[in-house]
Amino acid sequence: MTASCMFCKIANNESKAEIVYRDEEVTAFRDIHPVAPIHILIIPNRHIESANEIKSEDQLLVGHMIFTARQLAAREGIDKDGYRLIMNTGPRGGQTVFHMHVHLIGQRQMHWPPG
Ligand code: 5GP
Ligand code: ZN
Repeated sequence: MTASCMFCKIANNESKAEIVYRDEEVTAFRDIHPVAPIHILIIPNRHIESANEIKSEDQLLVGHMIFTARQLAAREGIDKDGYRLIMNTGPRGGQTVFHMHVHLIGQRQMHWPPG
């Protein structure tokens, strides 16, 4: 837990969010500024700053984040049409909250390349 981290507070139930899934390792909640009709963030409950800080022993946890995203995509009914998983990393990657998270966005057509 990092005291000033908003996502640590959400994971610890100290800050409100529309939580859609939670277990021992991860929490998933709706993004406060959705960029698509479905926009969910999947975070590790333990503070990891970004993908740059993933350690060898975190590999199962990161896999669990992706698996959770895939299960939520099915639950939200966007698995068949498709969706996008994103992990912005560092300032130039567009990361603004420095508690690692996977964006699950869907229910509209995505484009490539991203902005
Ligand atoms: P990033 O830019 O770091 O990849 O993504 C951060 C995301 O977190 C943004 O999409 C932003 O809208 C979302 N966000 C920031 N603060 C909060 C918050 O307090 N609650 C929720 N639910 N989402 C947040
Ligand atoms: Zn944190």
